[in-house]
Amino acid sequence: MTLHAPYDPDNIFARILKGQIPSVKVWEDADVLVFMDVFPQSEGHVLVVSKTSTARNLLEIEPEALAKVMEATRRTARAVEKALKPEGFQILQFNGEAGGQTVFHLHFHIVPRWADRPMKGHGHAPMADTEALRALADRIAAELE
Ligand code: AMP
Repeated sequence: MTLHAPYDPDNIFARILKGQIPSVKVWEDADVLVFMDVFPQSEGHVLVVSKTSTARNLLEIEPEALAKVMEATRRTARAVEKALKPEGFQILQFNGEAGGQTVFHLHFHIVPRWADRPMKGHGHAPMADTEALRALADRIAAELE
């Protein structure tokens, strides 16, 4: 998928936003949905998506929608840090297939990091157990300010 293709209204995150397939939600409001990555690259890997924009990548997103997504990313990262006590974390965002993107609805990854725990590869991590993700999501949500 190039940087300049039409938005696919049936992409997996669009289907999650429409309630057509389940996700393990951390929190949501009118502008954003925050949910657990089902193939986590580390424990507590969270995704932040816009509910209002159909931007596929950073080139396309409206400034107002981007501001909402970035603030949601900051707010969630603070909760992840309090809940899971990582030693660091990464904010990742991929653009275009050649840029490593696999789902073409703009999103930011929050990937907690610990010095002694190698990060699993993007697109190569095993699927997580839903109950384990639910427990992590609840711990993160409990720390939201
Ligand atoms: P990207 O490669 O940046 O487009 O990231 C897409 C992310 O979505 C990957 O980290 C996948 O593990 C994750 N993912 C794919 N399908 C699902 C799903 N049904 N629920 C949650 N995360 C998903």
